[in-house]
Amino acid sequence: MRIVVSGAAGFVGSHFCDRLLAEGHTVVALDNYLTGRPRNLEHLGREPRFQFVEQDITLPFSIDGDVDAVANMASPASPKDYLEFPVETLDVGSIGTRRMLDLAREKNARFLLTSTSECYGDPLVHPQVETYWGNVNPVGPRSCYDESKRFAEAMTMAYHRKHGVRTTIARIFNTYGPRMKLDDGRVVPAFMDQALRGEPMTVFGDGKQTRSFCYVSDLVDGLYRLMMSDERYPVNLGNPLEMTVLEFAGYIRDLTGASSEIIFQPLPQDDPKQRKPDITKAQTILGWEPVVPLEDGLRRTVEYFRALATVA
Ligand code: NAD
Ligand code: UDP
Repeated sequence: MRIVVSGAAGFVGSHFCDRLLAEGHTVVALDNYLTGRPRNLEHLGREPRFQFVEQDITLPFSIDGDVDAVANMASPASPKDYLEFPVETLDVGSIGTRRMLDLAREKNARFLLTSTSECYGDPLVHPQVETYWGNVNPVGPRSCYDESKRFAEAMTMAYHRKHGVRTTIARIFNTYGPRMKLDDGRVVPAFMDQALRGEPMTVFGDGKQTRSFCYVSDLVDGLYRLMMSDERYPVNLGNPLEMTVLEFAGYIRDLTGASSEIIFQPLPQDDPKQRKPDITKAQTILGWEPVVPLEDGLRRTVEYFRALATVA
């Protein structure tokens, strides 16, 4: 298959391109480097089945030749990034998603949207099931991301219903692994950076809020299965192993052998209090569930950040 991937220079997008190439597909990768980096795709420079185009997907563009699938992954994803780029985030979820859907429609291609657990906002249903409509503050600081993704989901369903596009929607829960930016503010790189430097680890609020962390190879496997499926409604992809942020800080401190103290800082506004995916749907229709234990995934991620520090 020939597959167009937007957001390819990002953390998840670059791993997804690796997986597509490993499956024997041809990839046309799009990115404007808003939050991604050339380094994430450097290893594919000599790959004849891989082509990179520097492209902002909110601007008009065209792709020559046949396209069998379109994966729309472009969007800032870290709270630090989308708070810095709120308008770009709304644009890429709305205008950018529409352009990618138009491409899929024009080429009669499959379409995958990488949506997010943020569609559930600060959820009142726990664990989160796909049929829950969410509890989102439409005017809070995170709304640029949450509403952008909710709009993207609505637009995707409209293209399916009105134009018959073979769409799929992944609701991704917190995912981590190599190629995250050390300074992107998300909790995994933040705690690892602090631990590796022996600096205090910054827990926001009282640290009792929960998250569930999925290793990137597990996520990418779920995305691949979903993109090839005929499921039109959203599917949660994430690891249901839930822990508090304070427990997580202690876990990373032990794993890295750091002696960092844990300090408490103010909780950002609208920070979800609990998050854990119900993955029954993915298990049932995709035969998918995460297989990488947290300790293994975190060790691989620490090794990546350690190697970066040696190179820098
Ligand atoms: P990332 O910031 O590493 O990657 C996003 C990529 O999109 C970057 O390379 C960025 O440059 C690119 N991009 C942004 N705007 C663009 C535009 N207008 N045109 C072209 N490219 C553009 O983030 P990520 O963690 O890899 O997230 C990838 C996708 O998965 C996003 O859609 C995100 O919403 C979703 N997601 C990720 C997580 C997670 O835990 N990583 C969780 C939920 C959802
Ligand atoms: N967090 C924290 N310290 C940090 C960064 C994040 O305590 O240095 C918390 C944050 O408040 C949230 C959780 O860790 O409760 C996950 O944050 P992240 O930014 O990774 O993603 P989110 O799940 O909020 O989108």
